[in-house]
Amino acid sequence: METNGAAASSLDSKLSAELREIVGDAALVWRPSELKVYECDGWTIEKSRPDLLVMPRTTAEVSAVLKALHKRKVAFVPRGAGTGLSGGALPLQAPVMICTSRMNRILSIDLSNRRAEVESGVVNLHVSNAVKADGYFYAPDPSSQMACTIGGNIAENSGGPHTLKYGVTTNHVLGVELVLPDGEIVELGGATEDRLGYDLLGAVIGAEGTAGIVTRATLKLMREPQSRQTLLGIFPDVDSATRAVSATIAAGTIPGAIEMMDRLIIRAVEAAFHLGLPDDAEAVLIIELDGLEAGMSERLERVRELVRGCGASEIRIARDEAERANIWKGRKRAFGAVGRLASNYATQDGVVPRTRLPEILRQIAAIAQRQHLRIGNVFHAGDGNIHPIVLYDERDPDEVRRAIEAGREILQACVQLGGSLSGEHGIGAEKIHEMPLLFSPDDLIVMAELRRVFDPEQRSNPNKIIPTPGACVEVTTPHRQAAL
Ligand SMILES: Cc1cc2nc3c(=O)[nH]c(=O)nc-3n(C[C@H](O)[C@H](O)[C@H](O)COP(=O)(O)OP(=O)(O)OC[C@H]3O[C@@H](n4cnc5c(N)ncnc54)[C@H](O)[C@@H]3O)c2cc1C
Repeated sequence: METNGAAASSLDSKLSAELREIVGDAALVWRPSELKVYECDGWTIEKSRPDLLVMPRTTAEVSAVLKALHKRKVAFVPRGAGTGLSGGALPLQAPVMICTSRMNRILSIDLSNRRAEVESGVVNLHVSNAVKADGYFYAPDPSSQMACTIGGNIAENSGGPHTLKYGVTTNHVLGVELVLPDGEIVELGGATEDRLGYDLLGAVIGAEGTAGIVTRATLKLMREPQSRQTLLGIFPDVDSATRAVSATIAAGTIPGAIEMMDRLIIRAVEAAFHLGLPDDAEAVLIIELDGLEAGMSERLERVRELVRGCGASEIRIARDEAERANIWKGRKRAFGAVGRLASNYATQDGVVPRTRLPEILRQIAAIAQRQHLRIGNVFHAGDGNIHPIVLYDERDPDEVRRAIEAGREILQACVQLGGSLSGEHGIGAEKIHEMPLLFSPDDLIVMAELRRVFDPEQRSNPNKIIPTPGACVEVTTPHRQAAL
């Protein structure tokens, strides 16, 4: 019979008692049935349950928890909302999970200096919602922004549809409070843009939880653009749509966003939301222009001409905010709609130079055929940041194997085309074995050395991002378990 956390987990009972003392009983989850929720993030191919989940409310509690773990050399994994798509919050030889969901206060909003100070468990969209009425917004807008946390965004250096023009998370974080794995609390960056010395804040943004736990962040706020125009282009083939992406940017216009969906995703979105997209559409582009009112209609006309010239069969322009929201609804909820197509899916994330989009999409189609899988594409086309969605059934071990293999082949193709292993979802557990495709052994050793500056014992989110380097780089094999 389960009586308490210590009995249920492999952790020493003194540690469990000390953690209970720090955060209180209600902030600990230890029953295996309840911990099941935390055995994976949005990348569901691998699963591994923590022994104990701790949900602190303050930086002081996080610090005390990490000091207790440090004393006993226990590894931990930070977690925000668990929407990550590369297994970043998957516990791999990390018995304790520390979740920031209760650290969800917006601490201050300073519009004259255009910044906000927030706890790391604040949901991304809540920041923009808090300043919307004053005409401001927080620019990084992952499609998961209704759920994902600022701490998760910082750890993954997240992007979103509007990062084509505005940049990713690192361009919008001025400073963080970080609790190091030994429990020491440090401040990196600050309230102003200019920083002297090495950019340690830059090293923590995108570190995927391997530098400790971010507890607080100072974010930049941006003024809402005066005007927005949203165009939906429907194309009879994928090549024409990708040509329109390059043509628009080459013509000197940087839209706020250029997003693309292919046939498989259009079908799923249409079935879910009934947006009136034609049955024979092979690709859809959403192009959003934003900026000053002056000159907007001329820019829109220029883009409309370019899109038509590249072969769009139909062009729709949102006439009001309701139509704009409708266009975006399909894109932002596309991942949810994919649930209609298959019982399981793995979202891949890679980047290629924008001009190589037609080639990578052709290669993805070939990989799908070779592996006998269905793969849809919905992605940030303006950045060349692709998101192939590999559909599979986790009850079929061979299909799981082929889905993993297809993901790997897609990443290889991205690197061969001059791109990279991730545009925004990070390396996590998923792509750790692919790092040597892009980085030399020396590169990986330097990265590991940088990591040790923050986490000498490598207890903060072990077995993530960097394959274990020794004298020569040796790839660790974390316990890989295909979910059956
Ligand atoms: C439907 C859907 C759409 C998505 N769209 C996008 C998109 O457009 N752009 C994009 O970039 N991503 C996207 N994602 C991926 C995901 O939402 C982001 O990576 C997000 O930043 C993860 O935030 P989270 O709070 O869920 O973090 P989690 O998944 O909980 O954790 C992610 C990583 O961050 C670490 N971490 C979490 N909190 C902290 C902290 N406080 N301190 C230190 N480390 C921490 C974890 O250890 C882990 O390594 C999408 C995901 C889904 C499911």
